[in-house]
Amino acid sequence: MKRDTTLIAAGRHPEDQFGAVNTPIYQASTITRPTLADWEASRDERYQKGKYVYGRFGTPTTGALEEAVAALEGADRAVAVSSGMAACAAAILACVKGGDHILVPDAVYFPVRNFCNAFLAPFGVETTFYDPTIGKGIASLLRDNTRLIYLEAPGSQTFEMQDVPAITAIARERGIYTAFDNTWGTPLLFRPLEHGVDFSINAATKYFVGHSDAMLGVVSVREELFKPLKDAAMFTGNGPGAHEAYLGLRGLRTMGVRLERHGRNTLRVTRWFAQQKGVHKVLYPALPDDPGHAIWRRDFDGASGLFSVMFEPFEKKAVAAFVDDLEHFLIGASFGGYESLVLPFDPSKNRTATEWRAPGPCLRFHIGLEDPDDLIADLDKGLARMRAA
Ligand SMILES: *Cc1c(COP(=O)(O)O)cnc(C)c1O
Repeated sequence: MKRDTTLIAAGRHPEDQFGAVNTPIYQASTITRPTLADWEASRDERYQKGKYVYGRFGTPTTGALEEAVAALEGADRAVAVSSGMAACAAAILACVKGGDHILVPDAVYFPVRNFCNAFLAPFGVETTFYDPTIGKGIASLLRDNTRLIYLEAPGSQTFEMQDVPAITAIARERGIYTAFDNTWGTPLLFRPLEHGVDFSINAATKYFVGHSDAMLGVVSVREELFKPLKDAAMFTGNGPGAHEAYLGLRGLRTMGVRLERHGRNTLRVTRWFAQQKGVHKVLYPALPDDPGHAIWRRDFDGASGLFSVMFEPFEKKAVAAFVDDLEHFLIGASFGGYESLVLPFDPSKNRTATEWRAPGPCLRFHIGLEDPDDLIADLDKGLARMRAA
């Protein structure tokens, strides 16, 4: 089956829902059994596909979502959790114990850095942050107690690409787990498991949900890693709400057409941005002169709607003159919804393995499903305001 067809068909069971196309929202905490013998037999069913024991461990709504995501990722199983950050945490917690060492890229989504430093460290898990472009040089950072290499590409805010096959080959040789945050690419543009990754993480809040109205995360794995992953989620009481799971699966069905439009619009806007006065550099791996372009072309099937712009030196008030009066760009975090967004960022304070140098302010943009002509006209007026300020 081709991927666009999987996107429509996977996890769909009208035969179980009186013919309704979509699996409904099952609002359930207690899930009953008719006899005591059935109740006793259900103990281990929490690990079984299509079996439901207690609301916290899953319902047919979360099961349908997990089945669809696993099919898209080329995985055996998936576990849905309460947010993208919960998915990052569950994947890491499935691997580590006190005394272990993990490797995390310097461009990682910042709350993951915080999780490692502020939460894992007191439990005796040590983190080394590494240059995301290190490739097979990762071998020099491995220790006897290294348990997990975490990856994310393109890097949050700064869009460095990672040589995933080079890193996973080394990890496999040494029996070290790998986890990849696939939120930017989604399984439609990149399949981590096909590149040797063990845990594929998606902040489903973003493109899966697609409408900026729910928090959701999913992690996909091969069968042998399912139990530790599910345990990490269950022991921490980490599961999605019924409505959120429903919105994630509903959004997934149209993710293909949305991503195609996000990608097309973003290529137009980034090409335009790259030619504007006052712009130092556009960070988007789909652009041919981006340092990550060769890896992106080799490994990815497309690009999504998130990129950053490094500007020449401008004062804060000039940035505000640009951003505050944009008509079509809302100011806010997150991305993956149908709308365009903008947010300033400065990673220089967070980095520990690499130095972030920018001549001026940096802005991250998400390009929505608007007509790109309107977005470019809006940005053009904004740049004029910034240069005049
Ligand atoms: C947003 C995001 C997350 C966290 O997702 P939430 O649903 O907001 O918790 C994790 N990783 C990446 C790369 C993200 O962009």
